[in-house]
Amino acid sequence: MVDWDRERSRLVTHLRERVSDEAVLDAMNRVPRHRFVPERTRRNAYADRPLPIGEGQTISAPHMVAIMADLLALSPGDTVLEVGTGCGYHAAVTAELVGTENVYSVEYHESLASRARETLAETGYGDVSVRAGDGKRGWPEHAPYDRVYLTCAAPDFPPSLVEQTRTDGYLLAPLGDGTQTLVRACKRADGTLAREDHGSVRFVPLQ
Ligand code: SAH
Repeated sequence: MVDWDRERSRLVTHLRERVSDEAVLDAMNRVPRHRFVPERTRRNAYADRPLPIGEGQTISAPHMVAIMADLLALSPGDTVLEVGTGCGYHAAVTAELVGTENVYSVEYHESLASRARETLAETGYGDVSVRAGDGKRGWPEHAPYDRVYLTCAAPDFPPSLVEQTRTDGYLLAPLGDGTQTLVRACKRADGTLAREDHGSVRFVPLQ
């Protein structure tokens, strides 16, 4: 029997080298990543690397999830839109930080969206809202969001997502094709974005 809790706390010790926010580390320590990844990759659930989740998609490495949570500066009560639910793991980490009922996530592949919904319900994050569809359009019914992030790479922040972010809210995404840069943008009152680069990254492309 694998001691998943022990594997997870080892991973969190390793993540401390890259992220210092205790709330983020606590969240990483609470979400059972092994229950989100497919059976055949489960033994690697707490290795700090991406894993395949079906439909040619991958779950990001844990350090990337932690870095993104840190850059988003999430607080309890923030309303968050995620584009790219995948297996639902990242959404669960976000839910730990803002509250489960404040997370909205859109996934392009119906099969991944329904599996993520099931896993989230089984692991106690059933109040995360997951919708199948094109995340470029966002989820206008619940806007404005305090935070919007993409877990797939786009050429630039899609205009609908900028529109659905509140003033002084953050957007975070891997931008560019081929080489991608993790970009955090703060939305100004006039609707323009103040951008900051946070290094080279590698994500699956936005469909
Ligand atoms: N956050 C995920 C990582 C998923 S990888 C997790 O924790 O597992 C990126 C995901 O973005 C894939 O599942 C992919 O299908 C999805 N995706 C790609 N283009 C999309 C689009 N236009 N709208 C919504 N989701 C999209």
